[in-house]
Amino acid sequence: MTLVVYSQVHKFLSSQVLSMSLLTIRLHNTLSRTKEVFTPIEPGKVSMYCCGPTVYDFAHIGNFRTFVFNDLLVRTLEYAGYEVTKVMNITDVGHLTSDADEGEDKILKKARMEKKDPFAIARFFEEAYVEDEQKLRIKPPAARPRATEWIKQQIIFVEQLIEKGFAYAVNGSVYFRTHKCGHYGKLSGNTLKDLDMGARIELNDEKEDPLDFVVWKAANENHLMQWDSPWGKGFPGWHLECSVMSTEILGERFDIHTGGEDLTFPHHECEIAQNYGCTGLENNINYWLHGRFLLLEGEKMSKSKGNFYTIRDLMEEGWKGTEIRYLLASGYYQSQFNFTRKGLEQARASIARLQEAVRVFSQIAGGNIQPSIFNIQYRERYQAALFDDINTPEALAVVFELVGEGMKRRDEGTLTEEEAAGIVQFLEQDFQAIFDVLDLEGGAIPEAINVLLQQREEARKNKDWAASDSLRDEIKALGYEVLDESGGQSLRKR
Ligand code: AMP
Ligand code: ZN
Repeated sequence: MTLVVYSQVHKFLSSQVLSMSLLTIRLHNTLSRTKEVFTPIEPGKVSMYCCGPTVYDFAHIGNFRTFVFNDLLVRTLEYAGYEVTKVMNITDVGHLTSDADEGEDKILKKARMEKKDPFAIARFFEEAYVEDEQKLRIKPPAARPRATEWIKQQIIFVEQLIEKGFAYAVNGSVYFRTHKCGHYGKLSGNTLKDLDMGARIELNDEKEDPLDFVVWKAANENHLMQWDSPWGKGFPGWHLECSVMSTEILGERFDIHTGGEDLTFPHHECEIAQNYGCTGLENNINYWLHGRFLLLEGEKMSKSKGNFYTIRDLMEEGWKGTEIRYLLASGYYQSQFNFTRKGLEQARASIARLQEAVRVFSQIAGGNIQPSIFNIQYRERYQAALFDDINTPEALAVVFELVGEGMKRRDEGTLTEEEAAGIVQFLEQDFQAIFDVLDLEGGAIPEAINVLLQQREEARKNKDWAASDSLRDEIKALGYEVLDESGGQSLRKR
């Protein structure tokens, strides 16, 4: 499209307020292994549960890839006009080292090693997690339930499972009868038959069947986190916690459940089975979204392997939370993503370019922000990318194309004030709404500087170089440096 056409249709389009209400969004549902059109249970509203951190250590940037993805999903849904309720739990008991029924409780293990109280360990790392979440500009959830504060509800849930024949108690522990849930395995692409064939000879002779899993676990006296229950002293299983907290807070049926790819099996498979046992609904959750792993040198980043970086490690090296956020957000969540320092350097350069773009275009726009054909067209493509299963790399490609086009037009001297205002609007509103890596306060130019810049522009037109130089000094004294570029003056904060 030519420049002439842009300006001809601009007046028409700028009068149209872009309606963002409830545009079609497609999401990859692990259950169907396809991208499905997203339709919420209640029109206009989204209920979403995200498996949260197990608070026995600092979360690593692999965990944060999943948490940033949750945030991108929330922000995209909000950007599309939905009201989103996100719940993200804190796993502060019951997550065993095997991620299944065997091994030690991760928090107790840490408490034993550090000779500390397990509750103190859990609260310390929960606080650290929330601090890191803020550094990455992840919006806080509507609720952050702790498993240890929902014990009563978990016991009631287990009682219902037993009553309905889905679970049985043995020696103070309660197990789920996996074979009672015919669709067990559907989420992870397994069938009960395949799972039976692959099942190990169980060491645990309390189980009626090797595929049964623990719902409530009996605690011995060394277990420092235990509660009274109808089956004796014990603690909840990790899968039980998420089934209970999600349905208690969001209701028996809700829209979206997320987690990293490793949670598909057994954690989420077991949640589905438990929910079925309790509610009779085959799928009480409509969309299951799983983020693929963040890798370090080709291997899954994980605490147990010791090959991980925390947000704190990277911040100590001088990286900002926004740079880490940008890097994690820049990959499509359905593909694994390799973490590198070079990636962080590129994230830094990308943010700097966009920050500079806001400054340059704001200056041309004279502080105005308004839609123009320039950003409306790009916005459509940006939305199409995001609404197609949160395809952030595609969305970012559109952002940089817009900025490149704007810069080119600025250099040619053909970028109008209105068009620049459109680009600023796109960056400050559409881009920030999702990616949120710009510091906009720093980008806004004080009015006094704008006045001096206009005077200098005038002086330069009149070839009054002395006035131009003295105005440059005045601007410098106010903390800004003026650069004379081919498209005109530009400004840099000193
Ligand atoms: P955890 O604290 O172990 O309960 O894990 C919290 C979240 O991080 C879960 O959704 C995991 O699936 C996710 N996760 C763990 N390791 C990685 C990784 N390397 N990349 C992406 N997500 C991960
Ligand atoms: Zn969970």
